[in-house]
Amino acid sequence: MATPHLKNFIDGRWIDSVSGNAFEDLDPATGEVIATATKSTMADIDKAVEAAKRAADQWRLFPAPKRGEMLYRAGEIMLKRKDGLAREMTREMGKVLAESRGDVQEGIDMTYYIAGEGRRQFGDVVPAELPNKWAMSMRHPHGVVAAITPWNFPFAIPAWKIAPALVAGNAVVFKPASLVPAFSVEFCKVWEEAGLPPGVLNLVLGSGSSVGNLLVEDPRIRAVSFTGSNSIGKGVHTIAGRRGIKATCEMGGKNPCVVWEDADLSLALGGVLRGAFGSTGQRCTATSRLLIHDKVYDKFLGMLVAETKKIRVGNGLDPKTTMGPAVDQGQLDCDLEYIEIAKKEGAKLVLGGSRLENGDFKHGFFVEPTIFEGLKPSMRLWQEEVFGPILAVARFKTFEEAMKLANDCPFGLTSAVYTQDLTVSMRFVESMDAGMIHVNSPTIGGEPAVPFGGLKGSGVGDREMAKEGVRFFSESKTVFLDYTGQTRASNIY
Ligand code: NAP
Repeated sequence: MATPHLKNFIDGRWIDSVSGNAFEDLDPATGEVIATATKSTMADIDKAVEAAKRAADQWRLFPAPKRGEMLYRAGEIMLKRKDGLAREMTREMGKVLAESRGDVQEGIDMTYYIAGEGRRQFGDVVPAELPNKWAMSMRHPHGVVAAITPWNFPFAIPAWKIAPALVAGNAVVFKPASLVPAFSVEFCKVWEEAGLPPGVLNLVLGSGSSVGNLLVEDPRIRAVSFTGSNSIGKGVHTIAGRRGIKATCEMGGKNPCVVWEDADLSLALGGVLRGAFGSTGQRCTATSRLLIHDKVYDKFLGMLVAETKKIRVGNGLDPKTTMGPAVDQGQLDCDLEYIEIAKKEGAKLVLGGSRLENGDFKHGFFVEPTIFEGLKPSMRLWQEEVFGPILAVARFKTFEEAMKLANDCPFGLTSAVYTQDLTVSMRFVESMDAGMIHVNSPTIGGEPAVPFGGLKGSGVGDREMAKEGVRFFSESKTVFLDYTGQTRASNIY
C-alpha cells in the first residue's frame, strides 16, 4: 500500500505546501514511516491566515448558539469515531490504546462542555450614571487566533483550544506538533464533516522553528494559545508581548507527589504508578518527583519497585502493553541523557535505567521505567523536566521539609498528596505552589469545567478550560446607549 501523504487544510481545501517538500511521520514503536506530510513555508502561513481573516468576518456574525451547535455536531462525530481515532493516535505517538481513548474522550468532553457556552456569552447591563441611559458590556472575538500544540495529547489539547476559540467567534490557524501530522489531519476532518464553513479552521503542517514563529509574528494574528515546552513557550510569549497581543502559554511540569506517613499505601501506589509511568512519563502532569515520609519510606519504595517491575513495555497497540515507547529518537536520547546526569550527580539508581533494543524493541524508541532515590534539590533530575518514565525519589521527616522539597523547583503545574489527615491535606493545599492540587489521587488529569494550568515556570497567561478558557478568546466591549436625544457628558451634573 502506498504511504499516505498528508496535506494542509486551508480555506476548506486539502492542499500541498507551495514548497513541494515533505517530512516523514514515524511509528515510534516500529520505526516505520506511516505517512509523509507537506512541509509548509511562509507562503502557506500567509494563505492560511488570509483565509482565516476572510472567514472570521462572517463567522463572528453567525449567532453564538449556532456556533455552539456546530460544536455539538463535532462532538457527536468524535464519539462515533473514538476507537478508530484512538488506534490512529497510538500508532502515531505510541501511548497505549486505553490512554489514547482517554485523550479522545477528554477532547469530546471539552467540546460538549464548550458547545453550551454558545448559549452563555453573557455580558452585563448596569444602570448608567445618568438618567435615560444604559451601560452594557458584551464579548467580542479577537478575529484570527493561532493554536500551537504539542504532540503528547494530540486530540485533547487542540480541542481545549479550538473549541473555545470557535464558540467565541474566532477563526483559527492550527499549527500542531510535527510528530503528529496524521492525527492533526484526523482532528480537522471531524470539523470539516461537522460542516464548519471554509477558512474558519485552517491546518498548517510543518516545523515550529520555521513556520510556528512566523505565525506568531503575523500582524493578522490577534491572539495565540500555545502549549509546549518552556523554552519555546517563553519565546512565543516574548513575541506576543512585543506585538501587544494576548497569549496564553501552558508549559512544562516537574510534579511532586507526597506520600504522608498515614497514607493508604496501596492507593498511593496506584496513583504513583499511573502518574509516573502512564503515557511513558510524557505528560506535563506526570509524577516526576516522589516524596516519601521517613516512617513508610522503605515499605513504600519496596512496594513501588515490585509493581514497577510488572510494567509491560511494548507496542501500545498490543492490549497486553502497559507502557509504550518514547515518542522519537530525540525524546529517547533525552531520557538516557538524564539517566546519566542523575548517576553522575550522585543519585542512586534503584530500577531500570537502560534502553530496550533487542527483539521486538529493535526498531522502536523504548526505555525501561526508571527509579532513582537519594535526590536533592541541587540535582538536575529534581529541577528539570525530562518528559520520560524517570521518577526521582526523596525522603522527608516533617511537613515543612516536604513542602520545601516540593516547592524548590522552577515549575508549578500540578501536585498530589496521599494522606488520611484532613489537616495535612489542607496545609498541603495552602502551601503548595502549583496550579493544580490532588488529594488522594494522582498528579494527572483535568476536567473541562475547572481551569487547567500552572504557576511559576509552568504557565503564563489565562488558564485553559472552564470559563477562563473561553474568556481568553474574546475581549470585553462596553456599550453606552443614550436615549435622551441630547448631547450630554457623563461627568457633568
Ligand atoms: P515543543 O517542542 O515546545 O513544541 C510545542 C509546539 O510548538 C509544537 O507545535 C512545535 O512545533 C511548536 N514550535 C516549535 N518551535 C516553535 C517556535 N519557534 N515558534 C512557535 N512554535 C514553535 O513541545 P512538545 O515537545 O511538542 O511537547 C512537550 C512539552 O509540552 C513538554 O514540556 C510538556 O510539559 C508540555 N506540555 C504542557 C502542557 C500543559 O498544559 N501545561 C500539556 C502538554 C504538554 P514542532 O513540533 O514542529 O517543533
